[in-house]
Amino acid sequence: MRWFQEKLYEHHKQALSIDTVHYHWRTEFQDVLIFENATFGKVLVLDGIVQLTERDNHIYHEMIVHVPMLAHGAARNVLIIGGGDGGALKEVLKHPVERVTLVELDDEVISLSQLYLPNVSDGAFIDPRASVQVMDGTRYVEQTREKFDVIIIDSTDPLGPGETLFTAAFYEACRRRLRPSGIIVVQSGAPFFQPKELEMVCRSLSESFDGVRPYLAPVPTYAGGMLALVAAGASRDALRPPCKVLRERFRPLQGQTRYYTPEVHRAAFTLAPIFAP
Ligand code: SAM
Repeated sequence: MRWFQEKLYEHHKQALSIDTVHYHWRTEFQDVLIFENATFGKVLVLDGIVQLTERDNHIYHEMIVHVPMLAHGAARNVLIIGGGDGGALKEVLKHPVERVTLVELDDEVISLSQLYLPNVSDGAFIDPRASVQVMDGTRYVEQTREKFDVIIIDSTDPLGPGETLFTAAFYEACRRRLRPSGIIVVQSGAPFFQPKELEMVCRSLSESFDGVRPYLAPVPTYAGGMLALVAAGASRDALRPPCKVLRERFRPLQGQTRYYTPEVHRAAFTLAPIFAP
């Protein structure tokens, strides 16, 4: 049996059996590997790091999207940086938004994801409300004059092309692109193995936002089975509204999520201090 080994952290690695390799090539920006695993289905790996699997990506995409969208409650204009697999885009389009702009650096990730992992985006890229820009997210945020209600940073980790998306300067540029009561969420890695990354994201966001809160999503194929996300906005309470409010806002989405519920939304912030700085 062949194995894919993800060796991200000192003295720890995780392995997934490779039943079939569907694709393995280097794009202009990164090494792309897509393989079949008997438990998780197709697996997308960028530069040796698991990005998503068919079996558990819904947990991550529901939690990076519905937490800020339902905390905001009336988002009409949304920006996604990264997310070339289309999973976050699909979840945003479940809301009554007017426009979603997805800014992805590597158009080969978009085309390969649609070819090998079509269920992840599930047609989101052809939704008339979706607009896709192929460019660096930092450059887009500097150049655009648009104002957004929610910004989602669905990027790779702070190494290689993703590095520029983890700076205080970038978060300040994002704050300037947010409308009042706007919310930003940043994927912040495996908290048990990358506590410094989580601390850095919280600290950098705190330079621009009054309310900064980490929350957790249990994703079996991320190292340690847990992913940290950090939400930031005008106040900490705004990120975790009362259950009654969330239930009312969630009603139109009832039956369209497999993991996210209003109760999970609130619990995800409660669990975070286990790792949060
Ligand atoms: N869900 C995954 C996770 O949390 O690990 C990330 C999904 S998505 C595949 C990550 C995307 O970020 C990649 O397609 C990558 O090309 C993109 N990306 C990395 N750096 C970027 C940048 N500076 N601007 C825009 N997109 C970027």
